Amino acid sequence: MDFGEDVENLKGIGPKTAEKLHKCGIVSVKDLFYTLPRDYDTFETPVSIADIRPGKIVIKGAIDSLTTRRARRRNLSVTEGIIHDATGSIKVVWFNQSYRLKQFAPEKEYYFTGNYELKNGRYSLISPSAAEVSDIDPRTGLSPVYKAHGSLKSHDFRRLISQSRDKFNAIPDLLPSVSAGTRAKALFYSHFPNSLNTVKRAHNYLAYEELFELILASRLNRQENKKLKATSFKFDSGKVRKFVESLPFKLTNAQRRAAWDIFNDLEKTVPMNRLLQGDVGSGKTVVAALSAYVTALSKGQVAILAPTAVLAAQHFANISGLLSEFGIKVELLTGATKQKKELKARIKNGDVDVVIGTHALLTDDTVFSNLALVVIDEQHRFGVEQRQKLMLKSPAGLAPHLLAMTATPIPRSLQLTVFGDLDVSILDELPAGRKPISTTVMPEISAREKLYPEIVRIISLPPDEKKHGKKARGQQVYWICRAIEDGDKTVSEITSVKSRAKKLQELFPKLRIEFLHGKMRQTEKDEIMGEFANGEIDILVSTTVVEVGVDVPNATMIIIENADSYGLAQLHQLRGRVGRGVSESYCYLMTTGDAQPSRRLKELEKSNDGFYLAEIDLKMRGPGEIYGVLQHGALDLRIASLSDTKLIARAQKDVVDFLRDADNLVKYKELMDGISKYQQITTLN
Ligand code: ADP
Ligand code: MG
Repeated sequence: MDFGEDVENLKGIGPKTAEKLHKCGIVSVKDLFYTLPRDYDTFETPVSIADIRPGKIVIKGAIDSLTTRRARRRNLSVTEGIIHDATGSIKVVWFNQSYRLKQFAPEKEYYFTGNYELKNGRYSLISPSAAEVSDIDPRTGLSPVYKAHGSLKSHDFRRLISQSRDKFNAIPDLLPSVSAGTRAKALFYSHFPNSLNTVKRAHNYLAYEELFELILASRLNRQENKKLKATSFKFDSGKVRKFVESLPFKLTNAQRRAAWDIFNDLEKTVPMNRLLQGDVGSGKTVVAALSAYVTALSKGQVAILAPTAVLAAQHFANISGLLSEFGIKVELLTGATKQKKELKARIKNGDVDVVIGTHALLTDDTVFSNLALVVIDEQHRFGVEQRQKLMLKSPAGLAPHLLAMTATPIPRSLQLTVFGDLDVSILDELPAGRKPISTTVMPEISAREKLYPEIVRIISLPPDEKKHGKKARGQQVYWICRAIEDGDKTVSEITSVKSRAKKLQELFPKLRIEFLHGKMRQTEKDEIMGEFANGEIDILVSTTVVEVGVDVPNATMIIIENADSYGLAQLHQLRGRVGRGVSESYCYLMTTGDAQPSRRLKELEKSNDGFYLAEIDLKMRGPGEIYGVLQHGALDLRIASLSDTKLIARAQKDVVDFLRDADNLVKYKELMDGISKYQQITTLN
């Protein structure tokens, strides 16, 4: 059977249905068969209507008197009907499922399962699942539930797939080293389960298959990267030592190790492909500066890409401060840069050694004479295409060395799968003297009583003894807001920061309060951030735009509203805005309204370890939450869980075996075609 052929060729699928399927990305027979149920209803042991009790029930009967009407509340449709069996009848109600009107034939029998409960003074069966009796194997009572795609509902998929039931045994195998027909069986039992146990086994195989593809893709990326050429940079140990001695602090051992890894990579003629991972405040910037120094000493140009102008400016201040005295020319290029033309001409001439910037670096008219090292800060903030744009700015035939940095720790399981083609250096040691941030979770309603006195206390403390802006009166506070649903209307982030700032100003008339959000003009943002850094603002009310990298050591308190709506890794990032000076720092996580702190949030009270928190996030919320690359939806794993380390280990071993025989890359054509989409997302360049 040709698994790649159009669904239109399947029995019972006409041009109309085919078009609907195509629209939601289901083009080939393979796509359809891999549209797996998201759940299974069990219609086991139905009860007679005469015997039902409130609660979850399964009944078997016919349905009639179906009608649909609009409810008084806007945007809600109510579909009602009467289900009857030999012993009696009950009312059934669905909300916003008017397609139910057409689902049932009056003469047929169906199973229904759902909650039988009191609604508007009358007992009804509320929004039950339904399946035609003749579709369900009476021995198992199981019925697959598919995710609706546009106008195609679960029961449509059930019908479309059942029509091809006899085709499943002809599905070819995809992977070597499993017994023949494994995939065919796994797909068959996913759609036509004979017990929950076989479903589990089927899913286990399909998850394995997915992980195998993902790991194979990242391995192949690694091989391809090895074929590229880069300029080799020998490092001058005397000069590097002088530079390190000039620093106002002693490097941590972790920083030394990371720098050493990078120097070794830069000496090679294959491009470096390294990820520098380090928790917030672990000192990645100086490692980047060292790498830039070594490259620039041998006349290679360096581009440092930052996700926001605020951060780019901060890096520029830091890095040019460190490098200028050693004769390295550092420049800043952002949207707000004046005399861009002149600067770009100098970059093109090779008159600039290190360019630090935002997206402005990516434009076509930014041309380098000899781009040799690309550093990407907070790399998960950039999409594949954006990173690629920069990588292509090297001289023809050469690829730049790449150093990607992130404060969002990547759990080991992700490292083995999605990021398997990277070398990794980890800063697992914070500079000496950092104090843990004391973290408290509390419901919003206790803010007035518990939090406001704390704010007053913090702001009246003397400024941080080491580093603070000139105009600081006391210590400073961040207050983070987000858009929340307020009944029917969505409050935008902008209104929510504005109104919070206003309320706080009413409460604390003497304090200097400003707000910051992503929609402000860049120059305005920079201005406000500058004032905050300079100590001219006591409380900065902001959206998560301050999440990334901003360094104001005199800010010692951060309050995060609606904390329950963020991932732990993101909260940890936000929390990392404080604890940067020598004073005690505090983080208050407010849950929405009177919501009690969840176990998940409580983890932040217990741990200051970003790696540990990311592992928890991965288990509880999935990879998209912690790793931005995946947010683009490209990596929608159907089944596999990236926290299943055992299965990952097995797939990894099998991929290594697979790659031992180069013929396999030709022999397994479907596999190789299928993984190209993964190759795109698992690569950094
Ligand atoms: P991040 O890894 O979050 O990007 P930064 O590079 O911004 O961290 O460093 C955080 C702060 O720590 C900066 O103020 C930096 O000057 C300081 N720092 C970096 N390395 C050290 C060190 N080895 N000892 C003391 N302070 C350091
Ligand atoms: Mg940083």
